[in-house]
This record gives sequence, structure tokens and C-alpha cells, in this order.
Amino acid sequence: MLTIEALEVCYGVIPAIKDMSIQVNEGEIVTLIGANGAGKTTTLKTISGLVKPANGRVFFNNVDITGKPAHEIVALGLLHAPEGRGVFANLTVMENLMLGAYLRKDKDKAKEEELSMVFERFPRLKERVKQMAGTLSGGEQQMLAIARSLMGKPKLLLLDEPSMGLAPILVKEIFKIIKDINEKYGTTILLVEQNAHLALKVAHRGYVLETGEIVAEGKGSDLLNDPEIRKAYLGY
Ligand code: ATP
Repeated sequence: MLTIEALEVCYGVIPAIKDMSIQVNEGEIVTLIGANGAGKTTTLKTISGLVKPANGRVFFNNVDITGKPAHEIVALGLLHAPEGRGVFANLTVMENLMLGAYLRKDKDKAKEEELSMVFERFPRLKERVKQMAGTLSGGEQQMLAIARSLMGKPKLLLLDEPSMGLAPILVKEIFKIIKDINEKYGTTILLVEQNAHLALKVAHRGYVLETGEIVAEGKGSDLLNDPEIRKAYLGY
């Protein structure tokens, strides 16, 4: 579904991503793990058209989307739930959700089908449809950011650090929801996470990114059991 070939991204003259090649197959959860500043967010921003690469290509369902504007990429069904929530604080929960479906041609249908799917998974949001998003708790805003992406009916969902800043109990809840979206709804997911343990547990496959380069890849379970990965990223 997603193929990245020999990607290179620079900020000015400083390279952030070097010769990266990764693949995400339909139906998979693939995780990209790495330390602070490894280039995880930059990778997602490049896929979704927010950052232009210096070299390399990005294909989505065999369409070359390298350097295309972000709104065209969203319209193809590739949605990005960004780091730091990014909800519209002065809009209600419902308005935020409907913005997620903005580019869909079948908006009324989206309302019925995706809204009930989203409310089933995030009952807290259903209770708070009229509340301003900026007054939600951090965890609720994180859920709203994911739910808003789901309203766009993504074929591929890019999730950037969905567990960031959440209490441990909510972190578990978020990972359960990610698994559920993938299993029951069939959404393919590329998950960027600093919580390497939970990410590798939920993912079918994973890539390890170190200062802009892929240094390891494999099945989630194999990476979890790799002594070097354990030492460097899992702390045991
Ligand atoms: P974190 O987990 O801390 O969010 P990350 O793995 O997502 O890190 P990126 O945010 O992609 O890493 O950053 C990769 C590198 O690119 C870092 O060295 C960062 O300082 C640099 N960088 C990111 N955004 C910019 C920017 N807009 N301008 C200049 N340098 C940037």
C-alpha cells in the first residue's frame, strides 16, 4: 500500500532522513520506533505532503505521491493524525469530527457510518459532542485527534505518538483502540511511537530509526526479543 524508496529529507543543509526505504502492506500495523530526533515525525510529514523530500519517492497504492500537496494526498485516503493532538480548540467536538470528513464526497454517509463507529470506540466523545475541544482533557483531545482522522475513512492512517503525555491507563486504552481499528475496521496503520514496547507488541512489523537511518527491521515480536533492541529501546 505504501512504498518509500531511498528517501532523503533535509532541513536546510542538515539531513533528517537518509536513504530510507520502507513498506507498509494493506491490513498491517507497522511501527517506526526511535529515540528523540531520530526522524520519525519528519518521515510522517513527508508521506503526508507537509515536508518536501530532497530525494527518493513515495508511492501510495502505486500512485507516486512524492511532493504532492497535502490536500490531494488526504483525498486519496491517506490521513495523518499529527503529534501533539492538533485539535481545533475553539470548535466543538462535533465540528472537529466533521472537519475530518471535509474532503469526502459522501459526507452525509460519513456522518452516519463513521460517527457511530467513532462513538462506539470513543464513548467519552459522544458524551461531549457540544463541548469546545480546547476544554477537553489531554487524553480526550488525543482521542478526538484519532477519531477526527477516522472520520476521513482512511485507507492508511499515520499516527504520530498517540500515547504521548497520557496516563498509563489511557496509554493502554489507546493501544487497544489502535488494534481494534486495524482488526475490525481493516484500516492499515503506520504508527510512530516512543513507547517501543507497546508499539512492537501491537504491530505486525517494525522499523528502527536511528539518526535518520533504518538500522533494523522485522516482525514486531522478533524485534521485541532482539537483545540489542531491548537494551537500546526497551531498557531491559
Ligand atoms: P521526537 O520523538 O523528539 O518527536 P522525531 O524522531 O520525530 O523526534 P523529528 O521531529 O523528525 O524526530 O526530527 C528529526 C531531526 O530533524 C531532528 O534533528 C530535528 O531537530 C530536525 N528538525 C525537525 N523539524 C525541523 C525543522 N522544521 N527545521 C529544522 N530542523 C528540524
